[in-house]
Formats: sequence, structure tokens, C-alpha cells
Amino acid sequence: MARPNEQQIGTRCVQAGYTPGNGEPRQIPIVQSTTFKYATGEAMGALFDLQESGYFYTRLQNPTNDMVAAKICALEGGTAGMLTSSGQAANFFSVFNICETGGHVVACSAIYGGTFNLLSHTLAKMGIELTFVAPDCTDEELDAAFRPNTKCVFGETIANPALAVLDIERFAKAAHAHGVPLIVDNTFPTPVNCRPIEWGADIVTHSTTKYMDGHGVAVGGAIVDSGNFDWMAHADKFPGLTTPDESYHGIVYAEQFGQGGAFITKATSQLMRDFGSIQSPQNAFYLNLGLESLHVRMPQHCKNGQALAEFLSNHPKVTSVSYPNLPGDKYYDLAQKYLPNGGCGVVSLCVDGGRAAAERFMAALRIAAIETHVADARTCCLHPASTTHRQMSDEELVAAGVAPSMVRLSCGLESTEDLLADVAQALDCV
Ligand SMILES: *Cc1c(COP(=O)(O)O)cnc(C)c1O
Repeated sequence: MARPNEQQIGTRCVQAGYTPGNGEPRQIPIVQSTTFKYATGEAMGALFDLQESGYFYTRLQNPTNDMVAAKICALEGGTAGMLTSSGQAANFFSVFNICETGGHVVACSAIYGGTFNLLSHTLAKMGIELTFVAPDCTDEELDAAFRPNTKCVFGETIANPALAVLDIERFAKAAHAHGVPLIVDNTFPTPVNCRPIEWGADIVTHSTTKYMDGHGVAVGGAIVDSGNFDWMAHADKFPGLTTPDESYHGIVYAEQFGQGGAFITKATSQLMRDFGSIQSPQNAFYLNLGLESLHVRMPQHCKNGQALAEFLSNHPKVTSVSYPNLPGDKYYDLAQKYLPNGGCGVVSLCVDGGRAAAERFMAALRIAAIETHVADARTCCLHPASTTHRQMSDEELVAAGVAPSMVRLSCGLESTEDLLADVAQALDCV
């Protein structure tokens, strides 16, 4: 039998993470239990000391969550994975696991509004400094962003909502030249359309709330470690992984759990223990249902996105369209390289007439609903400047690639003809 990592992506979507034994449930069981029973205190003590692996309290680990995390890990081609309560928690953990007070992060400026706030405001309160670089900065500008205390580089494969494509290979090379890992938020393409680890990313994060769930059912996140970053080779930069952890009797994560396991074990046993951002097993079950059809749904999202982008690019009332897989798009070449089978179903456009015209357009849509959501089975739309990116100044909006009149349209799974007709009639109303 082919091993999970040798199987095609669709087989992994359906099968990875759980293989029932004789007479066991066919679908992953929801282990709806906060705690787990042991015969002796000694047996449980060994778990607390990380001397043995096993479950003792769902705030740290739960079997249902682990099965789903293992599936996402197999989809991304990593060595270890974990679920979190949200995409925000996943991105916070991925950075904070290796970057503490006094550290510094280099981040691509075209990122999700929530991640922008997290990195630039909340982490600053924890004493973590940040330098933003534009997605299309020169190699020299990228190089100049690093400092001696830089601990990681962060970017999104396809930025939400700017739809900039990250040159993963280039950012990974720069990160590695400075002895730090590249963290990539792969929410929009999902591993069906891009696997950042294959291009040099070290840690991959997800808001599973989006396409992975795909039905607007449950907020969630995930982190996958590639196992490729050699923490010990840069031991001075990552003492949390390479020196004894006093809260676990002096365990050195990178020694005890190796290059492939250290990052996720530390994030679970320290950050999850202390911050408690666990995903509920029930939500992990829903997430798994979404994952089972991810490879079937993504092509339809992309088909709708491509058709809509082509339609909008020829429409007289539309002043600009962003869609990386649209010929002529600023990120077309990078999309051809990293997203040859399509990227995602999200298209952004500016309607002639500015903010007021954008609002009239959105109000006239019948199929597409106005929602603070994206990457769902049902088509939805949003005006980022007045919602998700509301806190930003005009300069910050420009740096994030968000024009004040921009509308983000997230193509769902409906029939293409109906979506195009809906957008056409709404543009007629502007
Ligand atoms: C939505 C989103 C997040 C935040 O995820 P939540 O699940 O809403 O916490 C992070 N990154 C990207 C790219 C997103 O689209």
C-alpha cells in the first residue's frame, strides 16, 4: 500500500489521518471528553513530564483533533501538525513559539487584517518588533529588513484580501540566509493548490475556517511543521527549542523530539497549556468533513473565480480587477509558478465611482451575500476598508494592497452562469 505521503492529494483529503482497525468506527470518532483515565498516578505523571505520549486533558491534546491535524499535516507534506481554535491562534502560536520579548519579525505587508493587527500591535505590546516588506520588494530591501534579533519571516501564499502571491522560494532563501524559518499562511490556496513546504517554507499555518471547512460551520486553525528547519544549527537564536525547559524537568525539545517534532511539541505543551486555544473535538469533526471534499470543491471555486475575473476585466464599470490567475495580473507570473492549477475563488474589484458605487454594487447583488466571511460554499462579498481593515490608516491600506473602494468577492460553489448573471445585473444597478 502506498504510504500517505506518496498518495495523490485527493486520496489524502479523504483517507489520511485515521485508519480504523477491525470493527472500529469508519468515520473518525468525536472524543467528547475533557479528560482521560489512568490506573496509577505514576502513569499519568510520565505523560505530564512528556516521557510518554498519551492523552490526559483536552486543553493540550484530544484524539479527534490529532486525527484531523494528522490529515492536514499529510496534505501539506509536513512532519507534525496541530489544530488551534482559530486561524488567529495558529498564526500567533507559530510566531510566539520561536519569537519572544526582544525578538523581531520580518513580515510581508500584504496580509490579512487580523494578522496585521496581531503582528504590528499586539506582538508589539509583548516586546516583539516588526518590519514589513512589500510582497514585490527587491532582494536588497528584503535583505535589509533583517536584524540580529530576527526570529522568523511571515507571509501569505495568496494575501487576503490583496491577492498578492508570495514568492515563497525567494522569501525562504532570504530567511534561511539569515538563519531563520519562513512561516507561510496557506489559507487561500489550501494544499490542494499549493504546498509551500515544497518551495522552502518551514512552518505552514491555516485558518481552517475558510476553504478547509468550506461550509461556514466552524472557526478553526492549524499549524504544520515541515521538519526541515535545523533548530540546533541556529541554537543561539532559538533557546526555547534548544535549551532546557524548566517546566518539563529540563527537556530540550530539539533533542528529545528531533527536528521534525520539536516545534509542534513545544507549541502544544507550552503555548496550548498556557493559552488554551484548543479547537473543540466537535469542530474538528466538522473540519474533517470539509477536508474530505476539499480537492473536489477547490476546482469549482477556482473555475468560478477565473470566469468572474475574466468577465469583470472586460466590464466598462469596473476600473480594476485583481485575480492572480488572470493574464495581465501583477502576480500572474508568480501564480503560474506557484498556483498552476488555480489559486482560489476570491476576486477583488474596484467599481467606477468609488466607495459609494461599491456600496450600491454590493447592495444589488442577489446571490452574493454581504458577510464578514470568505472562502465559503456560498458566494459572499465584503468591503474590506470599512470592515476587516477598518483600523488601518490610508497609508497602511495602500501597503496592504487594499484600495478604499475595493470589493472582495468570494466565489462559492454555485453554477458559474448564475454567478456571472448576478454580478452583471448588480453592475447595471451602479
Ligand atoms: C481568516 C484568516 C485568518 C484568521 O483566521 P480566523 O480563523 O478567522 O481566526 C488568518 N489568515 C488568513 C489568510 C485568513 O483569511
